[in-house]
Amino acid sequence: MNKPSFDPYVELLLASREHSLTSYASMLADFAEWVRTDVDSQAAYTDRYAPPILETYDRNGAVVNRIVLNSRYEEQHAEVYRRGIIGLPYSEGAPHLLTFTMGYLLAQADISLHCPVTLTGAVAYVLGYHAPQDVRARYLQDVVRMDGLAKTGGTWATEQHGGSDVGATTTRATRADGHFRLHGLKWFTSNTNSGLALATARPDGAPAGSEGLGLYLVPSHLEDGSPNFYRIRRLKEKLGTKGLPTGEIELEGALAIEVAPPPYGLKMMMEALEYSRIHNAVGAAGIQRRALREALEWAKSRRAFGKTLIEFPMVQDQLLSMRVRYEACTLLAFEAAIAFDEALADPERRAWLRIATALAKYLSAEDAIYSTRSALELLGGNGYTRDFATERVLRDAQVLTVWEGPANIQALELLRMLSAKYAGAKLYEARMRTVLNSMPDDLSELRPMLTARLREDLRAIEQVGSSKQHAERYARKLLHRLSQSLAFALMCELASKAEDGTSLHCALTTLRYFEEIEPPAIGAENEKVRSHSIELLEEVQLLQVSNLPAVSGAVQS
Ligand SMILES: Cc1cc2nc3c(=O)[nH]c(=O)nc-3n(C[C@H](O)[C@H](O)[C@H](O)COP(=O)(O)OP(=O)(O)OC[C@H]3O[C@@H](n4cnc5c(N)ncnc54)[C@H](O)[C@@H]3O)c2cc1C
Repeated sequence: MNKPSFDPYVELLLASREHSLTSYASMLADFAEWVRTDVDSQAAYTDRYAPPILETYDRNGAVVNRIVLNSRYEEQHAEVYRRGIIGLPYSEGAPHLLTFTMGYLLAQADISLHCPVTLTGAVAYVLGYHAPQDVRARYLQDVVRMDGLAKTGGTWATEQHGGSDVGATTTRATRADGHFRLHGLKWFTSNTNSGLALATARPDGAPAGSEGLGLYLVPSHLEDGSPNFYRIRRLKEKLGTKGLPTGEIELEGALAIEVAPPPYGLKMMMEALEYSRIHNAVGAAGIQRRALREALEWAKSRRAFGKTLIEFPMVQDQLLSMRVRYEACTLLAFEAAIAFDEALADPERRAWLRIATALAKYLSAEDAIYSTRSALELLGGNGYTRDFATERVLRDAQVLTVWEGPANIQALELLRMLSAKYAGAKLYEARMRTVLNSMPDDLSELRPMLTARLREDLRAIEQVGSSKQHAERYARKLLHRLSQSLAFALMCELASKAEDGTSLHCALTTLRYFEEIEPPAIGAENEKVRSHSIELLEEVQLLQVSNLPAVSGAVQS
């Protein structure tokens, strides 16, 4: 009997890091199958025919904040928690890597289902690891239970004046009867019908700026079952993630429980955000996986000028570009996912976690746009229509660059981590040198490339750090450069560790990725890679699990 497989490429990378999720392999294979079939069909249906609808008031005019979901989305929304996507790390000590891996799989079909998982996981993480003991004892179980009745989470930080500058929060927290009451307007709240949300607010008398922020847990309902004191004003009409309710919430004295007083509120919300950013990165890698699959299946069957598309060298080049970027971003995203568990065990690893997360969040989101756009283009006019998944996947992918902090905000986080306080430059150099030192002789072609890349990275870090003006001007360019360099290094590392027969041509794809980040002159491409193009594309089939449904097309009702 075949070993259960959920994703051969991720399995290969996890095995190379000695982080295999072996004991969960069957469960993950089953989860992947559910995602590819039921979830994918629900996602297409919800996006097109049955997005959520808000009913703020009941027939008597009382606030009910009811969000009407179609039954298929609603069932899967409960099912994903029943399968343990959030619960398993808490009920049986599974690594959080398991949750991130499930997020990677889920995003291949439905970002609208993955986003609430991200938020619920963030709430569970704050409650489980950072909240006061009494708050944890009362509320953690509500979000980690696996009996189909779990409450889902929300994180409410963004206000109308802006989402990046959370320190400017205007929501007030007033102490009353041993609890707090929140007043203010939260401008973007995804999974708006969450059962438990974390909200930033400023207690009366606290100073301005981020120092004055506390963090509060807001239940959707009071202990007697009546709705908490807030009103969902409206749901946003969005470009994508249409299955996901994202609303504006007017807090009108909402009862709230203190999770962290000032000056710790923002820091704790940042912890939640850190967790969500890793989900963003694995989700973006998953979306790239999906785009590659759609494009490849099409290129192998579509004919033009008497040939199948895949026979044309330009098409091969486009597909290879998608393959190597997908692999690079998957490695980056899992670098952060692995670092998350490591940092829980050893706080010294936190700085590396934050660096890897900023790099992974940025590049995976950018390349998710690149790959979904490329897939749509390869499917041509059909790809632009709703008969094919590519247009939804492209619309959904767009949000990955925005939420959890856009590129410039990741660049500012990188600058912070490179400062003397966190000594990030040393950590970055050390990680790159570990790869260089472990490269075997048969990868001698790659070694000088990585050496040169690191030399220039260090020069760039120094340049950017030389003055405040340089830092503000070039941080994003540095983010771009370092994320690609680290991704390239991680590909070198995988190529170094891959055994004969399972190498999946790692060295060739790594050479090809280098051409993505440092394009050669026309005609000067690596000949070895070019001559293996078809083989490398056929191999993508091996990266897939068998019994995949055909390319998803029309919506199934
Ligand atoms: C579908 C969707 C769902 C969302 N769900 C939630 C949610 O559940 N909870 C929540 O709290 N938020 C949510 N958001 C909000 C999201 O987190 C914010 O949109 C995001 O953080 C950016 O904030 P902003 O939109 O206010 O942009 P701004 O903060 O106004 O930034 C605008 C632009 O300016 C740039 N910029 C800002 N400051 C700087 C600087 N110092 N230097 C250089 N560039 C800068 C940014 O990079 C960005 O490109 C959601 C957004 C969307 C689209």
